[in-house]
Amino acid sequence: MDPRDCKDELAEILITEEEMQERLAEMAQQISADYAGKNLLLVGVLKGAIMVMADLSRKIAIPVEMDWMAVSSYGSGTKSSGVVRILKDLDTDLAGRHVLIVEDIIDSGLTLSWLVRNLENRGAASVKIAAALRKKEAAKVEVDVEYLGFDIPNDFVVGYGLDYAEKYRTLPCVAKLSPHVYEK
Ligand code: 5GP
Ligand code: MG
Ligand code: MG
Repeated sequence: MDPRDCKDELAEILITEEEMQERLAEMAQQISADYAGKNLLLVGVLKGAIMVMADLSRKIAIPVEMDWMAVSSYGSGTKSSGVVRILKDLDTDLAGRHVLIVEDIIDSGLTLSWLVRNLENRGAASVKIAAALRKKEAAKVEVDVEYLGFDIPNDFVVGYGLDYAEKYRTLPCVAKLSPHVYEK
């Protein structure tokens, strides 16, 4: 979907398609070097991470495996509570594996900090994080991100896998929604 086709619904484009792809290429280069000779497993967190997984994984120069999890953070309203429920678990045995979690965005950090601990407890050799976006000011817990795309302001964003009511995931850019969309 071209951002021009929904420009009335977007308040501001924060990261263009080109900026995102360029940054992902740099991250992929770093990942390829860091994991050379290792058997890397990419773990994507559904559904938001589908785009970053598709683009980042194809820019990585070493062979990788891919698996997916779906989790839900309980809690009131739209805020993450840190209580996480697994909706779809991995198919892969993590014992001795080098795992790189691929995420769309780090907001409170609660989901990821829970996930890192959960995957480490399965006997992974290493568990690291690659995330396209981070809202630094929203952090409730510190999460070590090995590979980060961009720090963004503490606003609700859509695009590049991120939705509002399941819409806007297919935008190639990251944008702030116009308030009138929420108020509808
Ligand atoms: P957490 O607060 O646990 O770090 O974030 C959990 C999840 O909430 C993220 O992986 C992402 O799917 C969703 N999320 C956080 N911030 C935003 C945002 O600005 N826009 C959208 N669409 N989803 C978000
Ligand atoms: Mg996510
Ligand atoms: Mg969502």
